Amino acid sequence: MLDQAQRILKDVFGYDAFRGNQGAIIERVASGLDALVLMPTGGGKSLCYQVPALLRDGLAVVVSPLIALMDDQVATLEELGVAAVALNSSQTPDEQREIAERLRRGEIKLLYLAPERLVQPRMLAFLQRLQVGLFAIDEAHCVSQWGHDFRPEYLQLGQLAEFFPNVPRIALTATADKRTREEIVQRLHLESAERYLSSFDRPNIFYRIVPKEQPRKQLLGFLAERRGDAGILYCMSRKKVDDMAAFLTEQGFPALPYHAGLPAELRAHHQRRFLNEEGLIMVATIAFGMGIDKPNVRFVAHLDLPKSLEAYYQETGRAGRDGLPADAWMAYGLQDVIFLKQMLNNSEGDERHKRVEQHKLDAMLALCEETRCRRQALLAYFDEDMPNPCGHCDNCVDGVQTWDATEPARQALSAIYRSGQRYGVGHLVDILLGRDNEKVRNLGHQHLSVFGVGKDRAEGEWRSLFRQLVARGLVDVDLDGFGGLRLSEQCRPLLRGETTLELRHEVTSKAPKPASSAASQLVRSEEREQWEALRALRRKLAEEHGVPPYVIFPDATLLEMLRGQPSSLADMARVSGVGARKLERYGAAFLEVLQGGAQVPKSPADLRHELISLACAGMTPSQIATQLACTEKNVYAMLAEAIGRQQLSLDQALDLPDDLLSEIQDAFLDGEGELPGVAEVAERFGKRVPAGVLHCVRAALQAEFEV
Ligand code: ADP
Ligand code: ZN
Repeated sequence: MLDQAQRILKDVFGYDAFRGNQGAIIERVASGLDALVLMPTGGGKSLCYQVPALLRDGLAVVVSPLIALMDDQVATLEELGVAAVALNSSQTPDEQREIAERLRRGEIKLLYLAPERLVQPRMLAFLQRLQVGLFAIDEAHCVSQWGHDFRPEYLQLGQLAEFFPNVPRIALTATADKRTREEIVQRLHLESAERYLSSFDRPNIFYRIVPKEQPRKQLLGFLAERRGDAGILYCMSRKKVDDMAAFLTEQGFPALPYHAGLPAELRAHHQRRFLNEEGLIMVATIAFGMGIDKPNVRFVAHLDLPKSLEAYYQETGRAGRDGLPADAWMAYGLQDVIFLKQMLNNSEGDERHKRVEQHKLDAMLALCEETRCRRQALLAYFDEDMPNPCGHCDNCVDGVQTWDATEPARQALSAIYRSGQRYGVGHLVDILLGRDNEKVRNLGHQHLSVFGVGKDRAEGEWRSLFRQLVARGLVDVDLDGFGGLRLSEQCRPLLRGETTLELRHEVTSKAPKPASSAASQLVRSEEREQWEALRALRRKLAEEHGVPPYVIFPDATLLEMLRGQPSSLADMARVSGVGARKLERYGAAFLEVLQGGAQVPKSPADLRHELISLACAGMTPSQIATQLACTEKNVYAMLAEAIGRQQLSLDQALDLPDDLLSEIQDAFLDGEGELPGVAEVAERFGKRVPAGVLHCVRAALQAEFEV
């Protein structure tokens, strides 16, 4: 059996060896027994049921909660030459009938279904008449009422055990905690399932957490070495998402907003673009997440603090599913802490629930202020023991200096106490620094004994100290009012001189930049040209086939081609990720690129990318036309399209004098209702303004009104 599985792994998927538990899981399921698989994102769960599906007779039914996810999996399998389909409500009755026919004829190996569809009596009856060889239940944690992904339809999947007592079932999830695990077993009746628990470490992710000073500037610093990489930036509020998406695009990092306040179609459109194009940044609230299977997300950045380590792990886990180096980066500050504590305080729910949430937030804060290895701390929270520091996080790489903050901490606590336990950090810092301003005078705080005792420290140091005091629970924040600070019970021993306090020594942004993680060094500069050529070919093929680029080949496969330089189809077949079908379809084309022979014609997507960067660099349309070897008319048309898609602002595209711009805008806006076409206003301007300019201005107006 294992031999046969190995052969399928190589022939169909193009991989040489199973990873971790995959082999054992596949053997068990293929032999007709149940399994529960707990594996982190990117661990390779799909193969655990796809290989048994091919080994066993009959149809494998895969339950998956999201249509986008299913479509992606089906496209990937089709590219591999595996007969897979998804049945969903977006298909017409005719399409559905045709799929049903193919199922009856036994032409299909894998059927993807949403849970609510699977448990319809008609569907169950239909499946009972077919030969079902396997059930796979993906994202099995959706059955848990405690988790945040709970889906009531999942509860009904327990019936499968009754309806199909002889069909093996495999449940898979990337959620590790014990409670969820037990709930899955109980609700899905998987008592006899063997459990396969992998380490939840994501070794290819580099973790970095920095204190927030000038967040935008810090973010740009982080992004500077990651130009052209796809990533996700999480922000707390919708407004901040919109602002940051605009800001990043302006700065030459194409970014799209995603949050629940946007119309559903626009959200779907942005999600599709994120999957299909390369190098886009998705700026999102946590509404963006599940269903994002894009394997080559190179970084996840947080400008706001997640409310628990569970959330942090899940969100950062969306980086680097493909196993290549990826980054998790976060900037956090006192304001985050205050905000989250206030939210928690104002939330509905009983006291017990609030205490649990408080506890989770404290664990998140502890990770931020951690002085030892971040990965060890993160895994320890999930009950996983990692014996040695990882060597692949900021604390391991940079080292953390701590300092004895006992004395200044007492001064800070004393400033809080003596000023009446009601002022925010700004005023407290003023007192410590001895600033003689109006507020201080009005309150008479210049007479406090602590006034000016902290002059020898910089303002930033005091702010950092207060943040750490709050994060460690030594100081409470007044949650109803304006962020005033109060002493907590926990600070008594420190005040009484019974304990000392060691704090992180903050590296300020002026300090030399520590070694960056490996993500930006995916390809060396001398390899860049060939790498881009390989990616361009992949993009072209992806557009022709209507699939995301990674479905053609994952980055890891392209990288192996780049490094291994296969020179024949036989060499090519040995590259990991090149199975028989893909070798036949694409092998020759990629060989040609590697041998430098092929001039990959620029695909529309490439041209778009290049156009946008040239325009952002300040080139005029006629200069761009020369550069791209196309007509000026074409350049204007592409600029207008990019403006319409909000990839480019009008300012970036054209350098128009203000008065001319308003004249043109007025011409479009004069009438009532719909914007007039370009032809209708062109007369007014005659030869004075090229039609292309009018197209661009119109596109900008339209974009403004649509969203
Ligand atoms: P998960 O569903 O657990 O997040 P996937 O099934 O999407 O992970 O797998 C992550 C990536 O790893 C995919 O690109 C997949 O093709 C690749 N992969 C899985 N198993 C292997 C293997 N045995 N050898 C090489 N690559 C693998
Ligand atoms: Zn570490």
